Amino acid sequence: MPNYAQLALVFRIRAISRSRLSRAWPVPDGEAGHGVPQAILYPEGWDLPNFACHLAVGAVSSALAVAYGDALYDLGNSCSTLAFLAGVSGSLLPDLDSDASKTLRLSGVVAGLGAAAAAAGFALSPGNFLNRPWQPAHVAVAALGAFLLFNTLMIGLLKRYTVHRGLFHSLSVPFLYAGLWAVLCTGMGRRTVFAVWVMAAGGVFVHLLLDAAKSRSLNPLKVYTQDFAASTRLWIGTAMVNFLVLVNPFVPA
Ligand SMILES: [Zn+2]
Repeated sequence: MPNYAQLALVFRIRAISRSRLSRAWPVPDGEAGHGVPQAILYPEGWDLPNFACHLAVGAVSSALAVAYGDALYDLGNSCSTLAFLAGVSGSLLPDLDSDASKTLRLSGVVAGLGAAAAAAGFALSPGNFLNRPWQPAHVAVAALGAFLLFNTLMIGLLKRYTVHRGLFHSLSVPFLYAGLWAVLCTGMGRRTVFAVWVMAAGGVFVHLLLDAAKSRSLNPLKVYTQDFAASTRLWIGTAMVNFLVLVNPFVPA
């Protein structure tokens, strides 16, 4: 398998060099909740884990967990890689609800690249519909358009509909994210489904626990938020996704 220990070490060193050691977990500007003055949420000297901290801890813990799982169960390359990605992305995921977070910008880039690849793939494949394949210049314009559209949509929707440390920082999210990964990896066999489920859930938990360890006013380990109806819907969605994983008859052994 790829050397995740080395990768994790690089992340760790980057994070340490950025956080200037004396302040291990600096609060970036604008990380406070909606409408609540930063000084009330996080008084001076009160630091929260930031992107670099979550990335470093997520990468190290995911690398160790995947290495351990690989040693025990011989997961193989693709399974190890997916499990590692599930863990690292899980450890970043909850901060999608922070308007100023790097996680949010990163999600916009990922969504944009995915859309651009899909658009290019479609335009380059032969077919009657829209007179495909297109010329390279037209494909490039389509891909760029798809990137900009989905980048803007992703960031806009998340900014519009999330509250920092709201639903995304609650207890159903690890299971929902794990279930979604498992559903995506259905075709890759039970071992991969199980590995990505465990790593995705574990990654999100690592994030919530890190936040909880430094949080005084906002508990990220909550079963539901003030928006009880939305919390209930989230739990129902989580249960449905995970039920699908459990009963899915299409997962090859
Ligand atoms: Zn967080």
